[in-house]
Amino acid sequence: MSKLREYVIPFTGLSIGKHTYEFDIDKKFFDVYGTELIHSGQIKVILDLTKSANMLLLEFSHSGVFNTECDRCLNDIEMPIEGKNKVVIKFGTESGDESEEIVVLPTEAHEIDIAPLIYEFIGITVPYRRVPADCDETDKYCDTEIGNRLSGIILTGDDEEDEIAEPEPDPRWQKLKNLLDDNNNDNKSKKE
Ligand SMILES: [Zn+2]
Repeated sequence: MSKLREYVIPFTGLSIGKHTYEFDIDKKFFDVYGTELIHSGQIKVILDLTKSANMLLLEFSHSGVFNTECDRCLNDIEMPIEGKNKVVIKFGTESGDESEEIVVLPTEAHEIDIAPLIYEFIGITVPYRRVPADCDETDKYCDTEIGNRLSGIILTGDDEEDEIAEPEPDPRWQKLKNLLDDNNNDNKSKKE
């Protein structure tokens, strides 16, 4: 996997204290690191890196939108996404205390590729159900064409009896029609 260098942070030369980084995640990022969960989007990631004598604290927050299909109408939509995560980087050889929040790097490590962390943190906040709010009601759809078709199917079902029954003539039109027929003097019997 060819890494994107912009996500590799050389921490050896950093001063003790807090350093802030900003990243704009888009399609290029997912093309490199994986498109299983998201294939494209516009997501801002802010990383606060706090360096102390023997460890690093990485505080990530991300927010933005990603492109997907609406689960209901398969329309291309943008869904909001956001989250916050914290990772502690320790140094040593043992991996015994490694967990979700703690990453152990070899003592000689001088840089860290944070792209896999960003990918993971964005990934765990991808909503399971992808339906925008304005498409989340029985008679509302974000794709109007499909919405109309779905509504049509429902209407046809409900109106089945009406379609078979003779449509009721509008009495006003009937009156006009009778008048016209009278004027025509060609009186075919028009009783209905
Ligand atoms: Zn929809």
